[in-house]
Amino acid sequence: MIIDLHIHTLIGSHCSIIEIRDLIIQVKRLKLDGICITDHNNTAGIWPTKKLGEEEGIKVFGGIEVRTREGDVIVFSKDIDTIKVPVGIVDLISWVQEREGVIIPVHPFRRGVPSLDNRLYEIPGFDAIEILNGNCTQEMNILAWLASLKLKIPGTGGSDAHTLKQVGKYATMFDVQIETEEELIKAIKSGNYQAVRWT
Ligand SMILES: [Zn+2]
Ligand SMILES: [Zn+2]
Repeated sequence: MIIDLHIHTLIGSHCSIIEIRDLIIQVKRLKLDGICITDHNNTAGIWPTKKLGEEEGIKVFGGIEVRTREGDVIVFSKDIDTIKVPVGIVDLISWVQEREGVIIPVHPFRRGVPSLDNRLYEIPGFDAIEILNGNCTQEMNILAWLASLKLKIPGTGGSDAHTLKQVGKYATMFDVQIETEEELIKAIKSGNYQAVRWT
């Protein structure tokens, strides 16, 4: 199952111009099986996109990109709508672990936006590292990939799309069928997946 784990919608992210109706059409066209809505610090885009996805046979999962004081991460967990920023990374990791969710540093080596950078090596508790991010240079993604190898933490792929054209550039290929957020969390914890280039 191919899922783009990192997408921003116009509803939930001021910096995105993606209309959710166009998004679902694009996802179908690209033959992705599913997408995750991971808007900045809010979950407003999830339900409307889920509803459209259901009508069109596209699985839509809800996550959130949280701007921690140390850098951006995506979280899949229950209660994500209650996360308040600013938050420190260590506190957010314990919050996620209490709820048995997953937390993934995204674009860890991108410049110009808060990113965890080499703090990846110092902070324990990440379930995966985003090693293919559609808004990063190849060099930045390679640094993330090296970190995932050294730390023995699996790597995910996501487009980090803010425009329709960016959707699906990278994705994550799971070897199981995923129907719900609970199953997605379980699949991410299993480590049985691969970050892939899709478009
Ligand atoms: Zn970000
Ligand atoms: Zn993002």
